[in-house]
Amino acid sequence: MSVIRATLTSMGAGTATTDLSAELQRLFGFERFRPGQREAIEGTLSGRDVLAIMPTGSGKSLCYQLPALLGEGVTLVVSPLIALMQDQSAALRAGGHDDVEMIASIMTGEQVGVALARIAAGRARLVYVAPERFSSRRFLDAIGQANVDRLAIDEAHCLSEWGHDFRPDYLRLSDVRKRLGTPATLALTATATPRVARDIVSALELRDPVMARTGFDRPNLFLEVLHVAGEAGKPRMLLAHLKDRKRLPAVVYCGRRKTCEQVAAHLLGDGISAAPYHAGLPAHERTATLQQFLAGELEAVAATTAFGMGIDKADVRSVVHWTIPSSPEEYYQQAGRAGRDGAPAVCTLLYTAADKGLIAYFIDRAKLTEAQLRSVHALLAANADPSGVFRVSESDVPADDPRVAVAVLERAGALELFPARSGGFSGRLAEPALSRRHSAAAMVAMKRQQNLRWDRLKAIDRYAAGDGCRRAALLGYFGDTPEPRPDELCCDNHGTRARSPLQVDEREAVLLCVEETRGAVGRTRLTQILRGGRARDLLAAGHHKLESHARLAHRNEAQVLEVIDGLIADGTLVKTDGRYPVVRRAPPAADG
Ligand code: ADP
Repeated sequence: MSVIRATLTSMGAGTATTDLSAELQRLFGFERFRPGQREAIEGTLSGRDVLAIMPTGSGKSLCYQLPALLGEGVTLVVSPLIALMQDQSAALRAGGHDDVEMIASIMTGEQVGVALARIAAGRARLVYVAPERFSSRRFLDAIGQANVDRLAIDEAHCLSEWGHDFRPDYLRLSDVRKRLGTPATLALTATATPRVARDIVSALELRDPVMARTGFDRPNLFLEVLHVAGEAGKPRMLLAHLKDRKRLPAVVYCGRRKTCEQVAAHLLGDGISAAPYHAGLPAHERTATLQQFLAGELEAVAATTAFGMGIDKADVRSVVHWTIPSSPEEYYQQAGRAGRDGAPAVCTLLYTAADKGLIAYFIDRAKLTEAQLRSVHALLAANADPSGVFRVSESDVPADDPRVAVAVLERAGALELFPARSGGFSGRLAEPALSRRHSAAAMVAMKRQQNLRWDRLKAIDRYAAGDGCRRAALLGYFGDTPEPRPDELCCDNHGTRARSPLQVDEREAVLLCVEETRGAVGRTRLTQILRGGRARDLLAAGHHKLESHARLAHRNEAQVLEVIDGLIADGTLVKTDGRYPVVRRAPPAADG
């Protein structure tokens, strides 16, 4: 789990003629660079700007860590993920680098003071910092005195309003960069459509950047979508999915806290050790769950999507989404937490039309009229001091989606937001009453926001509801063309036979069911059992207790019948004649 594997030795002189591969081996103990790393590192060390677009788990951190350890001066790393910063700075320090500093809101004022003093005294080589720090004058002064030679911006898609995780804090980075004397800048992201990539380059004003771009394909991930009639059908589908224990450990992403609890209970009831994980649980419970999951003591976690951010558990075998996420970016980032170790893993999305409808409803509800925008502004103004500084709670804002309303006003330049402390909004208004210019700009921003959210929903729906190759659909969205591959290693849309390497063998499942029912039932009953039916007569016969029960719960009736008929057609099974035909194993063929 450590980012740095080998003991880091102290720096040698003469980096100009450095053999990078030797340094990689010496400092990190790695044999060779992964795709994209060398281009990014060489570019950074030669003073160029770099845009690195590499998938999660591909080794982006090394692209700034190695230059930081090899080059002169200070490397400043901006990252919104505190767990990741902690992990990395601790690993580097443990490796003997006491010139690594971190500054984040979880530190006490005293700790921040010590770190700042060390930075100002030139005793830091690598400084990790959360983006909201740039609103602190004290920090800007300290960092201004350090000799920042390289700026690394992790999760750079947060800069783009086209990104799925736009953060106003990131907009300051362009100014910060200038303040620091425009050092060579390395922007890194795992999710960037061509549009986001262009946005990052222009927002930061990168000069002819080196593009370190690897493909987005994760060949070991099998992609599947299970269509479910409604919410009530999901538990059965999930249990059938995880019954195959090769799919554990698993993360089940649920949209709501209550669902996390219910799903964890379902799993526990079925003999899978599972726990919920969401922000409503006490911190010590969350920590315990996380640690148990990392240690392999829990087989599954039913979590809200914050779970997994910056957490390095390499052997997650499946990531299940209980509901459709609102964008392909979000989906691939979360699903990509499966199989980081490179071994086969499955990404499963449970799809219902109602879930998609709910997202559409929320998008529509976030729409504001000009009059509504004006009343939001008026509310902020009513809570502002004479200099325009306001602080309000979310529930005070007269809009269905307060975040969108305030963000749109900020985009339009009508206000500046301060970093959020504990919910609510605080910031400064540009003017006491919303001007015509700002209100028009806000309406344009609103329209763009809406269009963007619809486009994303349409794209993820094409992935989930379409009948083409899912891999091609998903990667195509990110501007990638995946290599063709065998059906069974790609997605569940390649013919009716395609299935994940982890999935039960469908023919085996049917044969097992025939064996368990001792050749006494017909095609229809076999299908009901295999699909996990719970009709009264089925329960009375004890068919729900069979090993083969619900094995093919993810297939529809016609698909299961097709497998059975295939086995009859090729002579493995026989169907008896008569009024109530049953299906049996064919007698072994006589020799000779
Ligand atoms: P990302 O930020 O792209 O999600 P990380 O930087 O966290 O990925 O790297 C993922 C893992 O890969 C880490 O455990 C890291 O130590 C390891 N790693 C990075 N580069 C290499 C390499 N060249 N060879 C082997 N392992 C590497």
